[in-house]
Amino acid sequence: MATKMIVGLQYGDEGKGRAVHYEAKNASIVIRATGGSNAGHTVVANGKKYAMHLLPSAIIRPDVLSMIGPGVVADLKILSEEIAQMREAGIKIEKDNFAISERTHITLPHHKQLDRLYEMLKENKVGTTGRGVGTTYEEKARRTNLRMCDLFQEEEKLKHKITENLKVYNVLVAEANFLIEDGVYHEQKFPIITTEEEYEYCMQYKENIQAFITDTHPIIDQAIENNALILIEGAQSFWLDNDHGDYPMTTSSNPNASGTASGAGVGPTLINEVIGVMKAYTSRVGNGPFITELEDETGNLIREWGHEYGTTTGRPRRTGWLDLVMIKHTKNTSGLTSLCVNHLDTIGKLSQIQVCVGYQYKGKTIQHVPIDKENCKPIYQTLKGGWTTEGVTTFEQLPKEARDYIYLIEKYTGVPVKYIGVGADEKRTIIK
Ligand code: GDP
Ligand code: MG
Repeated sequence: MATKMIVGLQYGDEGKGRAVHYEAKNASIVIRATGGSNAGHTVVANGKKYAMHLLPSAIIRPDVLSMIGPGVVADLKILSEEIAQMREAGIKIEKDNFAISERTHITLPHHKQLDRLYEMLKENKVGTTGRGVGTTYEEKARRTNLRMCDLFQEEEKLKHKITENLKVYNVLVAEANFLIEDGVYHEQKFPIITTEEEYEYCMQYKENIQAFITDTHPIIDQAIENNALILIEGAQSFWLDNDHGDYPMTTSSNPNASGTASGAGVGPTLINEVIGVMKAYTSRVGNGPFITELEDETGNLIREWGHEYGTTTGRPRRTGWLDLVMIKHTKNTSGLTSLCVNHLDTIGKLSQIQVCVGYQYKGKTIQHVPIDKENCKPIYQTLKGGWTTEGVTTFEQLPKEARDYIYLIEKYTGVPVKYIGVGADEKRTIIK
């Protein structure tokens, strides 16, 4: 078999969860590779809607081993709650279909407070989900953070680690509270967090997850030896990548294909397919450049028709036309082998559609993405929309205008389209 990977090509919420669940039907292992509970992946299957934040989107398939990889940062409370909710919804989560890497980093209560503190202090706000994901990665890089394996340490050793990890936080909040008192900031004060509190937090949630924590390497080795299909699930997206995206309006991990491979623990030469997931338009949650943004009635219509409200935060997503320059940029940087284009049903509701095929930049026409996106003005190609995908199950059955839309994406990017989404339900997937 092979190893396949699914990554986002825009600003997240392209429908990766749906693509992962779909591809997972032949997989033996599905590994969620990066990000934390700031991700929100939706799967509509068996007539039900499931929203995952930390659990791999394949968890709905009981015959697949769903794994949380070392590149993920996991909030113990959210993970425990998500497991309980999914079980309540009738989803099997047992030792034989779920594993957490012992190397996965843990998001603790103080990480969320730090996230809030940083956003308060920043003039140029990132618009984070406030879930302490970036601050967990920060502490991971500082090499003081706790990992899943630490939950099994003796009480004294674990408490010592927690104290070390909390030091910087408590120094920072003391200063922040001083500033607040000084009247510079008016937001709520930040709590001093004790070792005891975070120890209790760890013990409280350890109970629900300890059975799943394991060394994931031998499992992956075995799957590779058996030629089984391993599927790697990316979170967030290329343009939120901390190295390649719209820094500083980025996420704190590397959701490009290489970072995703690293987060899963599968080397690049073993990855046979990289499927880039995109929407037939663009949406973005949070702040940052958005060249093709529509702040008008058309943007509102796309938001309503596409249900563009965040899975994690419920925030209305910003919407705009498809930007093919942005997509093409990801082709080589992420080594794409195919594309999955979702929401072809949504965009077809508009009678006229625009697609960005270049930028006006400093008096020139360009077809690449410069670092100062804010100086780019979109150049559009206008296409005829007004199609319906109802009842369509094959590519050939799609109206000509819809097929032309897909052909334009393929021609511009040089990457073949493999899957097309024409509805939220996984059944509404067309294989090209
Ligand atoms: P992810 O974060 O990339 O997994 O994507 P999200 O699940 O956050 O957002 C994608 C949204 O679009 C979800 O509500 C999906 O149910 C929905 N969706 C995905 N593909 C399609 C599609 O082809 N058509 C329609 N109408 N909805 C879709
Ligand atoms: Mg999402």
